[in-house]
Parts: sequence; C-alpha cells; structure tokens
Amino acid sequence: MKILFHDTQGKMPFEQTYVDQAVRFFADTLFGDTCYNNLHLEIALTEPEEDGCLGETITYDFDEVSTPEFIDITLVKHLSDEDFMTTLAHEMVHVWQLATGSLIVDEETLNISWHKFVNHGDDYNDTPWEQEANEYESILVDKWKHHVDAAKNQKT
Ligand SMILES: [Zn+2]
Repeated sequence: MKILFHDTQGKMPFEQTYVDQAVRFFADTLFGDTCYNNLHLEIALTEPEEDGCLGETITYDFDEVSTPEFIDITLVKHLSDEDFMTTLAHEMVHVWQLATGSLIVDEETLNISWHKFVNHGDDYNDTPWEQEANEYESILVDKWKHHVDAAKNQKT
C-alpha cells in the first residue's frame, strides 16, 4: 500500500511517520487476509467547513471490473489528537468498504450501492456504511492505543 501525504506537515497533531503507521495498522485490522497491496492512498488536509464534517473519503477510480485502488482521504486541519485519530479510523473504514466493493458509487448516476443494493434516500448518518464506520472507528482507535502502549512497554 502506498500512502502519500499532501502538505500535511505541522497541520496534523502527529508526525507523518506515526500517522503512516496508524493507517497501516487500521488497514491490517480491517482487511485481515484480504490483500490491499495495490491501494494508493492520498491524505490531504483542508480548512474546516460549515457542515462540521471532519473528514471525507473519495475515489474516482471506479470501473466495471475492479474495485478502486486510488482513494483520497481529506481531514480537517489542526484537529485535536482524539478527533484526528477517530476521524482517520472512520475514513479508513470507508477506504476498506470501497476497496472491497461493499460500497460502490456509480460515477454517472451518483447512485450508491451497499453490498450490491442501490441505497436511496436514507438520511446520511443512517446509511449502513456510515453506521458501520461510526461503529468501527472507536474499536480501531482502542486497538491502536493498545498497540502503541504495548510497543512502549516492550522498549522500557
Ligand atoms: Zn463517514
């Protein structure tokens, strides 16, 4: 998996290498045995928007035969430690949903399919992919914290 950071220096609460490790940890946890070597993630930061949204995951890499490999994550600048990690974990759930074909966006109609069924008209936060991301984000962050603590304890 390739991870590219765009203009993030000093605008994230953590060093890039630490964020890189967290992204790989979230991917390992989510993908399990599913291969994700071909993934190209680009991570960029943006100014906060009025809708209060802290992050976004987008891909334009849909085609008929394969799942997307080029996926962009955007996070709001200068988030707190906690908000940053939780948002990153949330967006990684969407990366996993897109890269495994659970979540498909039709580029022409903008219809969104979830496990092959077109989903119409749910309120955004009630959609199954948002519910899944909301459910998994804190589980992932807890696992990451345990992982970091365990690594620290090994060194001392
Ligand atoms: Zn979401």
